[in-house]
Amino acid sequence: MSKRDYYDILGVSRGASAEEIKKAYRKLAIKFHPDKNPDNKEAEEKFKEAAEAYDVLSNAEKKQRYDQFGHAGMGGAGGGAGFSMDDIFSQFGDIFGDGDIFGSFFGGGGGRGGTRRSMGSNIRIRIKLSLEDMRNGVEKKVKYRRMVVAEGVKYSDCRQCNGTGSVRRVTNTFLGQMATQAACPVCQGMGKVVESKPREANEQGLVAQDFETSIKIPAGVDEGMQLSVQGKGNMGPGGGAAGDLIVLIEAVAHDDLTRDGNNVIYHLWLSFPEAALGAQIEVPTLDGKAKIKIDPGTQPGKVLRLKGKGFPDLNGYGTGDQLIQVKLYVPTKLSSEEKETLLKLQDSVHFKPDQGNKSFFDKMKDLF
Ligand SMILES: [Zn+2]
Repeated sequence: MSKRDYYDILGVSRGASAEEIKKAYRKLAIKFHPDKNPDNKEAEEKFKEAAEAYDVLSNAEKKQRYDQFGHAGMGGAGGGAGFSMDDIFSQFGDIFGDGDIFGSFFGGGGGRGGTRRSMGSNIRIRIKLSLEDMRNGVEKKVKYRRMVVAEGVKYSDCRQCNGTGSVRRVTNTFLGQMATQAACPVCQGMGKVVESKPREANEQGLVAQDFETSIKIPAGVDEGMQLSVQGKGNMGPGGGAAGDLIVLIEAVAHDDLTRDGNNVIYHLWLSFPEAALGAQIEVPTLDGKAKIKIDPGTQPGKVLRLKGKGFPDLNGYGTGDQLIQVKLYVPTKLSSEEKETLLKLQDSVHFKPDQGNKSFFDKMKDLF
């Protein structure tokens, strides 16, 4: 199977900046995230494909090799080996935030490093947040089921590996003998085996249990981000450390406002008299209503700014604004009386855009 071009996969040009590449990947990662596409093989493939493309294009050295030689330059390990989900999720650390907060947001899947095999697995849940909660931060109670060590389970040290969880394998290769560490096949790396257990426990001595905890969500989180709460995942069998709880953030649509990065967008529809005469208007914000002044002669397309009414930056780089985009409402139904009034105004000198007045159109252009 021939591989798709990495730039095509991310939908960026060859001259794209590192920031553009990151942005493009972030978008795809959210779109094809397995939590959003459960049991969707195609989405999973796309998710992996994008991760691989990003892995190469975000690394200066790999990118240069790829630019020069294409897929052939990536060798076996770099390009062909494919990505495990763990690799991808650990890569997320630098995709969804550069700061310290998000460093810890991504669990990275555990299981790395061989000796921590007895760790419990991660649990993934999703949480829906209003824009207000994302802006202010919130503490949320969540309920889910996790695996815990069943009451009455007895573990004993695994005899195969003497409780270490790993075994040494010596294999003969043409380079000579090579020793590798592998998870013990008897205890699956647990170091312990179940000696006795109640009937309802699984072969690792675990049972599912309802669990409730509350999660602190910092102000400024965005849709698609993941929070990782250490030790709130499935418990490790045999007393191993628990995995993490990984919380995927989803946004609940707001009736009036939308989000754009750290800014909030509001479309303000003005009637013609309001735009021409000026007005005082109340607009919704994420913390209550705000009064704004519309100057006489306000043109559609103008953007008004409410400073600091947006989202705080997660890494502490200030706070976004609310952008109010002025739109002009043109009525579609008119009474005969309204028609008459408009007809009277039609030829009035101030109601005609002056086609010869260049400065007028230049001004209009600036607004868009
Ligand atoms: Zn063992």
